[in-house]
Amino acid sequence: MFSLHSTLNKNLYFRALNIMYMKEISSEGIQKAVNILTKHTDSKLLTHLNACVHCGLCETSCLFFKTFEEPKYIPGKKVDMVSSIYRRYCTFLGRTAPKLTNAKELTEDYIAEMVDSLYGSCTMCGRCVKHCSIGVDIPFVVRTGRRMLAAMNCVPDTLQATVDAALNTKNNMAIPKEDFVDTIDWMQEELQDELETEETLIPMNKENAEILYTLNPREPKFFPLSIAAAAKIFHVAGADWTLSDEMYDVTNYGYFSGKDEHAKLIAQHMYDEMAKLKCKTLVLGECGHGTRALRWESPNYMGQHPDFKIISLVELIEEYIKSGKIKLDKSLNTKKYTIHDPCNITRNGGLFDSLRFVVKEAVPELIEMEPFGSDNFCCGGGGGMLAMSEYNERRLKIGKIKADQIKATGADVVITPCHNCADQLSQINHEYKLGVEIKSVAEVVADAIML
Ligand code: SF4
Ligand code: SF4
Repeated sequence: MFSLHSTLNKNLYFRALNIMYMKEISSEGIQKAVNILTKHTDSKLLTHLNACVHCGLCETSCLFFKTFEEPKYIPGKKVDMVSSIYRRYCTFLGRTAPKLTNAKELTEDYIAEMVDSLYGSCTMCGRCVKHCSIGVDIPFVVRTGRRMLAAMNCVPDTLQATVDAALNTKNNMAIPKEDFVDTIDWMQEELQDELETEETLIPMNKENAEILYTLNPREPKFFPLSIAAAAKIFHVAGADWTLSDEMYDVTNYGYFSGKDEHAKLIAQHMYDEMAKLKCKTLVLGECGHGTRALRWESPNYMGQHPDFKIISLVELIEEYIKSGKIKLDKSLNTKKYTIHDPCNITRNGGLFDSLRFVVKEAVPELIEMEPFGSDNFCCGGGGGMLAMSEYNERRLKIGKIKADQIKATGADVVITPCHNCADQLSQINHEYKLGVEIKSVAEVVADAIML
């Protein structure tokens, strides 16, 4: 049991956060934040705001609490940060007897605690939901809190900069178009050499193609081999596909910032590109939150379902294998492999079976982590954590849980269908001296593909 009435320490850390984050909070901003709880309430929000019974059963499900063992990291506490505002502004008892009901006002100190808790202490991984005694949707409440903070312009600057880059340049790393095209040309030449052909292997801006393929900008920036791997799979499968040099970014950090208008604009970029190139299927590259934001959340932002099909690369590869369009020889992959399940692909994305099918077709030996699948631990880089450099130290500390899981498998290679996870895994690989390789699904499939 934990006491929701205990006072959080107003330590130096929060004071520093105050200086870093606090914009002038106007009464108009506060009203906008409260409106999120009142004007747009639905039964789901009200239920999950009021359902927590403070049992504390969720505490060890959370990688933050497991790492730091401080009450403020308990998932139920994060829910209470938001519901205490609801009580204060939206209930009679909270308005008249706030101390009695632990109702909280949106003061500068409290907002700073909210920023630290809802942006800096939750990757929105959803593992706690599985362990909650009554199924409170904790990340949904956390995201509601982030929407409130966004309404008060309190999104951490680092995360907002990532969103702004996507809004202004159509990719969250602001990669100049000429650099992107150079990288694609380089990958195409490598692949042409490997396949001994001069054919165009990475089509660009091709109208009426069946498939528009998307990437996480981390690929052209840091992991370009995964682009060549996907191109090899498309080539062998005889796919009619294209990339766009204008809009290829599968990510949507507006989902994490809590600014729904930004999430909508970023999703709109992709919908517009599909319309411009007249493609029929949007294939989502290997990115957990991008898959979630475009496939499951974008119809909510856009207020309409897209008039094209959306599918992840992992599912498409599964189709190619099952239909015989590609054949794999798993003996070509000679190491010991494990899978890191990205939260938004497996637990929150329903792609466990597709992912296991594809990987088991591609590698001879798969050693599962413990726990794995829908109970797997987040890598620590989700929820926008990788974009918020002020939490780097905390992010690497919580990553030790994943490092220990990887170490225990004895695997040489960690496969993960998410380039955000791959980035965090690369950093904990270095930090905890794991000595493993990190590979995308496309890479292990391309390594096993029979030409
Ligand atoms: S969503 Fe994940 S990080 Fe957030 S409180 Fe739950 S377990 Fe912890
Ligand atoms: S397990 Fe559920 S009900 Fe219990 S404290 Fe956690 S969020 Fe609240």
